[in-house]
Amino acid sequence: MRYQKLAELYEKLSSTTKRLEKIEILSSFLKELPEEDKDVLYLLLGDIYPEYDEKKIGISNQLAIKAISKATGIPNAKIIQEWKFSGDLGEVSKKLTKNKKQVTLQSHVLTINKVLENLRKLPDLVGKGTIGKKLSLITELLTSATPLEALYLIRTLIGDLRIGLKESTIRESISSAFFNKDKEASKIIQEAIDKTNDISAVFEIAKEGGLKELKKIPLVVGKPIKVMLAQKVSSIKEGFKALGENVGIEYKYDGFRLIIHKKEKEIKLFTRRLENVTLQFPEVVEYIREYVKGDSFILDTEAVGFDKETKEYKPFQEISQRIKRKYNIEKLQKKLPIEIQVFDIIYYNGKSQLKEPFKKRTTLIKKIVKNHPKKIVYAKQIITNNEKKAEEFYKKSLEDNQEGIMMKNLDAVYQPGSRVGHMLKIKPEERDFDLVITGAEYGTGKRSGWLSSFILSCRDKDKFLEIGKVGTGITEKVGSGKVTFEELTRKIKPLTIKEKDRQVTIKPKIVVTITYQEIQKSQNYSSGFALRFPRFTTLRPDRNTKDITTLSEVKIDYGKQKRN
Ligand code: AMP
Repeated sequence: MRYQKLAELYEKLSSTTKRLEKIEILSSFLKELPEEDKDVLYLLLGDIYPEYDEKKIGISNQLAIKAISKATGIPNAKIIQEWKFSGDLGEVSKKLTKNKKQVTLQSHVLTINKVLENLRKLPDLVGKGTIGKKLSLITELLTSATPLEALYLIRTLIGDLRIGLKESTIRESISSAFFNKDKEASKIIQEAIDKTNDISAVFEIAKEGGLKELKKIPLVVGKPIKVMLAQKVSSIKEGFKALGENVGIEYKYDGFRLIIHKKEKEIKLFTRRLENVTLQFPEVVEYIREYVKGDSFILDTEAVGFDKETKEYKPFQEISQRIKRKYNIEKLQKKLPIEIQVFDIIYYNGKSQLKEPFKKRTTLIKKIVKNHPKKIVYAKQIITNNEKKAEEFYKKSLEDNQEGIMMKNLDAVYQPGSRVGHMLKIKPEERDFDLVITGAEYGTGKRSGWLSSFILSCRDKDKFLEIGKVGTGITEKVGSGKVTFEELTRKIKPLTIKEKDRQVTIKPKIVVTITYQEIQKSQNYSSGFALRFPRFTTLRPDRNTKDITTLSEVKIDYGKQKRN
């Protein structure tokens, strides 16, 4: 298939903001899509491989500018000038390609296969001469591209497709294309996506084998799956009301989620963002090998930091650096030790545990995990329908430096990827939100040269809406344990979409936890709300922009606050 056909689809999809229209457009496209071009589905999400694959395109704006320059013969400076004007490198590339096409007629035809072939070479390039090689791979595509193709090629390369397409829209389009928008079908497709994290494979099975085959998609040990997520309630009473009598209560540990796969000799560790972090935690691999029985399994756990001297638990932010750190691991491992709290099991010795009731899964965990405190243990759990006992347990969790409790229905199944009503979290009413940074402003005086004020956004479906600015909680001093302006500036700069005076607009990538005192209505921000006294608590490298606080959650919290 020609890449032009896909570019035309992108164009159609971005011509409407209405979800139903997008679904209609995409489902007619998918009906006609030949199986050999199924990997187009990765491109639709701005990717080149399945979501779980760590190979991403990752081209900087600077390299894209160089490639446009090489392909069109127009100097970098002129391209940068155009970019400042329009704020969209894709549009710049389209315009300049159009101008060039009037002079030289191109005879090459760009196919999807060729585009994927070149893009897939990019993440594999390392070492000397990488930049040059990347540049020629991109330029080769750009010189054959039509103006419309150039627009979407550049946007794909810099990771800013701007077609407003979410995974859920693709799910509905597959449902509409092959199953007549059947409600049940959507659910089955979603389950298949959450199990495989491979949208192209799901498309193929849906098209070829229908719902019957989709349902049969097995869990694969070693391939990351999306975890089950909890809903929030504000009291234990509310928790019992929602869950009924048969409730297991556990600490809500203040760490990060770690999903542990073992298949024969091989052990792999994934975060909830599907990132493979096995190398970062060699001690966990050892604990699993030593203290967990079974040939193959998938465990759902929380990794919790503790003080190496006092052995007391530490808050997440003090160990968060371990997730990304890829060098000096041994040293960091000694300095920031972690304990694994196993709270669920998804697969065991050749058998999926997804449909087993939680109680049975808990029993299985206790059978196979040999508790070694400060290494690996199963999560502390009480089974009760007594509010008083639950309150006591909650208090104990807070005294143990944990975040609160999880209340879980003992009969419930495990639903990958869903925020379910049968697993509830309760935290004290200190208010915090996970938000994404979407803009920033350069500071003055002591902070000049650094970005010093950060615009925060919550999510509303596939849009990000501003909800406030934060400057406190971040420091100038290195080594205080807090995030520094320098570090944030360094992270933010490569994400710049637009720069005007001292303000920058950036791609929504950096997720942070913000505490605040109050939510107010506000005309100043696109969400219609503002946070009073926001304070930066921590970077959340383990979280996705999909996981951040939504506008409806903000509204709910605002409503509760008023009642209080
Ligand atoms: P939140 O991140 O506030 O939405 O809370 C849900 C998170 O709490 C999960 O993703 C886990 O990482 C974490 N967690 C801590 N302890 C438990 C537990 N006992 N059961 C389930 N999740 C837990």
